[in-house]
This record gives sequence, structure tokens and C-alpha cells, in this order.
Amino acid sequence: KGPDPDLVAIVERMAKVKHKMLVLSGKGGVGKSTFSAQLSFALAAMNFQVGLLDIDICGPSIPKMLGLEGQEIHQSNFGWSPVYVESNLGVMSIGFMLPNPDDAVIWRGPRKNGIIKQFLKDVDWGELDFLVVDAPPGTSDEHISIVQFLQATGIDGAIIVTTPQQVSLIDVRKEVSFCKKVGLPVLGVVENMSGLCQPLSEFKFLSVAETGEQKDMTEWVIAQMREKAPDLLQIFAFSEVFDSSAGGGAKMCLEMGVPFLGKVPLDPQLCKAAEEGRSCFEDVKKCPVSAPAIKTIVKK
Ligand code: ADP
Repeated sequence: KGPDPDLVAIVERMAKVKHKMLVLSGKGGVGKSTFSAQLSFALAAMNFQVGLLDIDICGPSIPKMLGLEGQEIHQSNFGWSPVYVESNLGVMSIGFMLPNPDDAVIWRGPRKNGIIKQFLKDVDWGELDFLVVDAPPGTSDEHISIVQFLQATGIDGAIIVTTPQQVSLIDVRKEVSFCKKVGLPVLGVVENMSGLCQPLSEFKFLSVAETGEQKDMTEWVIAQMREKAPDLLQIFAFSEVFDSSAGGGAKMCLEMGVPFLGKVPLDPQLCKAAEEGRSCFEDVKKCPVSAPAIKTIVKK
């Protein structure tokens, strides 16, 4: 029996991609797609040639987060053409193939694996510096197949996105074990929705409007929340300054021997940018979403 022709085609296609990384999470809703989208925007802003591949087949949110809703994929002699945000940022998602965005994709494993294989084999990315792959949450068949395919072509590793809560961190441990089992390096863990950023600075702003002077209201806001909404304080561990339960991600990384890439605060601006399908930060160096990850990845 000769080599698998699909694998040969994938290896040939991926030979033009310098760096490949998988973005994983133990659970849905932790910000994995937001991270993948913002990381891709940031890499593209640094003038790299970037491809973003969304294989979250049951919940493709990448088209919306890149401002590409309603776009369709075109075919050429060279394969499926990605949809381009900029000339150096191309996107491929099952979302582009659904005639109605409300359609549910209810596919069994083999069909999902089939489309993943096709995405890797048939998308005409051209030469890429980075291919960011937004994977579905958890560790399933699809993960095993994508890892196998990408390993055949050389993959840099995985970035795992989590929130600071124990329930999410437990799943990250599973994710890290999965990576170890399949021999996929963990580039690092990003703790998302970790602490608040923007609301506090908005409180500062409010104090100017009301009192005419710039006063830091942060302490006051925390005191109010302790008194009136203690549960809210506990939902997202504030910053380590305010809550000793913060830093769960960093601690877990230390225990599991994987790099901690940093925290991304719960930020309404980031949420808005994702909704509007655009980059959150004009200056990529200031982008907390991607800066730590980029530092790790680009130096490789
Ligand atoms: P996942 O891909 O893990 O399912 P998403 O990236 O779709 O999660 O994020 C879920 C929701 O949370 C989205 O509406 C997104 O805009 C929002 N979100 C993600 N990260 C943040 C953050 N740091 N601050 C505020 N909102 C966020």
C-alpha cells in the first residue's frame, strides 16, 4: 500500500506554511475564537502573511469576528480560495458554506473529519507565515485527526485558552494531558476574562464628570461591590491586587510544566470589537490578547 494520497496532498499544501498553531480550550465560551481572531489581526498588522482556519464546525463564529458574515468561498483551479480581510489575512470557515447562518451543523465524526481534511488539503492559502487554527472546544475525534494531519507537516504547537475559574482550569488540565499524549507541544496557556479593565477606567471617567476632578474610584467601586454584589466579585477573580484567588492559570501552568502566556482582562471594548468583526487594538504592541502569545511565537 502506497502513502495516503490525502496526506500527501496536505503535506504538499502545508509545505508553504512556515508556522502552524492550534488554539484549544477545554470549554466553549471562554474566548477561544475571540483570541484566535485577535491574534490573527495582530499578526497581520505586523505584516505577516496570515491564514485563519476555523474548524469549530458546530459553532463557527470566526466569519462574524472577522467582519466577513455572508461571504462565500470561491473555487479556482488551485482549490478553495480563502476569504480575505486584508491582502495578508485570509480566512476559511465552515460558516462560509452554510446558506443560512442559523443552520445547525449536525454531523457525525467521519463527516467532520472529512471536511477538516479537505480544509487542510484544498484551501489555496499560498505562502503563509502563520496558520492559526481555531479548534472546537474539548478533545474529540476532530482534534485527533487535525493533530495527526498537522504533525505530518510539522506543527509548532497549541495555545490553550481558559478562564480563571476552577471549572475551566480542570478542563485545561485535560487539554494539556491530551497534548502530551499526542505529542503536541503546548506553546502556552492564556487566561482570558481575568479581572476587569475597562469598567474601572470608565468609573474614573465618571468621577471627573460628577466632581470635576480626576479621582481614582477603583477602590470605591471594589468596596461597593464587596458590599452590594459580593457574588459578582467572585465570578471573575479581580486582579491579584484585589483577590488572592486570581492567578489560577499561572499556578496550574507551573504545576503542569507548561508556559503561562498571560492574562486578558474582561473588557467591553474587546467584546465590542468581536461583535463588530474588527481588531480590538490599533497598536498591536498594546494588545493584551496577542502580545504575550506573539512574543512567544514570533521568536521561534
Ligand atoms: P469560545 O470560542 O471559547 O466559545 P468566544 O470567543 O466565542 O468563545 O467568546 C464568547 C463571548 O465572550 C464572545 O461574545 C466574546 O466577544 C466574549 N469575550 C471573549 N473574551 C472576552 C474578554 N476578554 N472580554 C470581554 N468579552 C469577551
